[in-house]
Amino acid sequence: MKEQLQKIYQKCLQELNEIGINMQDNDQIGEIEISLSNRSQKRYGICKQEEPDEQTRYIERRGRKRIIKYAKYKKHKIEISLWVMQLDESIIKNTIMHELIHCIPNCNNHGKEFKRYANYINTQLGYNIKTTGNKKDDYQKSNLEYHEEVNFKYKIQCKACGQTFFRKRINKNFTRKYRCGKCNGKLKIEEINKKLLVLNQ
Ligand SMILES: [Zn+2]
Ligand SMILES: [Zn+2]
Repeated sequence: MKEQLQKIYQKCLQELNEIGINMQDNDQIGEIEISLSNRSQKRYGICKQEEPDEQTRYIERRGRKRIIKYAKYKKHKIEISLWVMQLDESIIKNTIMHELIHCIPNCNNHGKEFKRYANYINTQLGYNIKTTGNKKDDYQKSNLEYHEEVNFKYKIQCKACGQTFFRKRINKNFTRKYRCGKCNGKLKIEEINKKLLVLNQ
């Protein structure tokens, strides 16, 4: 898997080079490391920024808050989620490209500059880089069945008609506030701790 990631990563770098984006330019981009991670079932990848370039420091105002930001970082650690590696190569490449854009100055968020690069790469190289991925869609494109594992904590059942549903968290006064949607009967709560496999169709 590691070698497969490296291979695809090298392809991405080369393709970017061909359209004038040199990711190996240490002065402009800095150092990039890429690895696999099994930490998240949700996100496709992450780009952790390190060693901010002090000369590019600026203050961003959000309401009354002032946030220190940097346009440029000297080190970038990209992590690609392991589950992404079983998908179609085009999706793996989209993910790598997305994280690579984050390594470019002023592209640490999904703002204007990020979108400008994403559009450029999409049109020049036929990519489909987006700001957020759709796991279900990407599984379907890869001819894989998609299961979402949800960790429910509560089972709620109607005392009158037996209708059952599940919740991750519930309001304190749930049974006083809510009634069964079907028959308006009273509800009872049972705490469970099972992982339920929900098949999305
Ligand atoms: Zn991103
Ligand atoms: Zn009911």
